Amino acid sequence: MNKNSNKPTFIPKMYCSLFGHDYLVTKKVTYHVKEYTCSHCKKQLTTNSNGQLIELTPKFKEINDILERIHASRTERLKKKTLASSIY
Ligand SMILES: [Zn+2]
Repeated sequence: MNKNSNKPTFIPKMYCSLFGHDYLVTKKVTYHVKEYTCSHCKKQLTTNSNGQLIELTPKFKEINDILERIHASRTERLKKKTLASSIY
């Protein structure tokens, strides 16, 4: 039994080369940095520091994880600050 026989994996890639990738936002890292995945071939992209779209390599995944943590702690602090200034 060939378990790959039911998977026409060449078709999504062919579709993308004909019609272009169909990227969906899969993760919002910061206000400016997002991660995208093609709905057809599952290719992943991310926004780099220059605002350009680049391939999401494991290295950039790592960077995005760090960015996300920094961004989350910043917005958390901002919320506390706003709360504090509304009290005093
Ligand atoms: Zn694609």
